[in-house]
Amino acid sequence: MMEQSLISDPGSIDEVVEAEEVKSKNKNSKNLSSCMIKYTNDIKLIYKDKICPPVIDPDLNLFTGDFGSCPDVNNFYLKKVICVAPHLNFSKFKNEIKCSACSTVLNTKGWSKNIRNVHDLDGVCYAMFYNYTCKTRSCKEFNKEVHAYSKDDNDNFKVILPLNLRDVYGISLTAKSGFTSALVQYIIDDALTSKSFYSTGEGIHSFRVQRFLHKKELYLIYVKAYAEILKRDLLLGIIDNVTVERKVREVKPFSSLHDENGYNESPRPSDNYIVALFMSFVTHNKGKMEQFIDEIPVFKTVSVDHTFNSQNRTYDIDSRSSVRRVRRLSERYKEMKKKEKK
Ligand SMILES: [Zn+2]
Repeated sequence: MMEQSLISDPGSIDEVVEAEEVKSKNKNSKNLSSCMIKYTNDIKLIYKDKICPPVIDPDLNLFTGDFGSCPDVNNFYLKKVICVAPHLNFSKFKNEIKCSACSTVLNTKGWSKNIRNVHDLDGVCYAMFYNYTCKTRSCKEFNKEVHAYSKDDNDNFKVILPLNLRDVYGISLTAKSGFTSALVQYIIDDALTSKSFYSTGEGIHSFRVQRFLHKKELYLIYVKAYAEILKRDLLLGIIDNVTVERKVREVKPFSSLHDENGYNESPRPSDNYIVALFMSFVTHNKGKMEQFIDEIPVFKTVSVDHTFNSQNRTYDIDSRSSVRRVRRLSERYKEMKKKEKK
């Protein structure tokens, strides 16, 4: 019954995703926690004009950190950052990043101030964009700042990238935020089973809680190691009780999951959000899916049985085959559309 009420009107993908932002964050607060503001500013400085990886994962630094010293809890709150700067990410193609209006190579401008929340399966990550400008005077895009995901009124990208480089980032943007293809894939895969969208939400919730617990656990391991060192130093008389007490006080507790200045995570997207992402995916891929179904029949295979004479017994290939999957997706979409009209 849950689904009946959900599918009535998910609303446009932009509206639904933005609603999620307002719900999960205090209206007056910035979408970035203080430690993330500092972190992204550092990234902008480091990769001002140097080769930059498309994804920066702060978790990797945790393992090269100073095990045994006082851990900084803020380092455990940092999230993945997707750095969309094609000329710095793929320097081989830096002269192939062109203006879609006049096809000339774009000039670099600098990192955009605007940082997006990008919703991923196990939590939010952030996307930073490098801006470019077209320096062709006669071009209608002259001097306007654009980035790899800027679109015109007809929903076409304003920047031409070679070899579909854009796909490497694995994100889609809405008006103010975005989501990853991993999140969409999870929703679509779940939609192929008999699971409800509500259960899909529970699945995403579980990914996010697990990740939070994992980070918290990791932090505690660092704290324990630090405590062991303090204990040793006290026993050896290197430090006194007062120092130990002061140092222990410096260790900060791990924040709650939704603390805006701490871990800063929304536990799960709304059911509406999940339905909207599903509808948007299927709507965008409807043409392709129908073509796929029409052109590729479900293959028949002939069983080869050596005990008896070869029989012309035929059967469909495994139900997990892609044709079946696409067909099922399409059916579910049609069912939902029908219910929506009622
Ligand atoms: Zn141009």
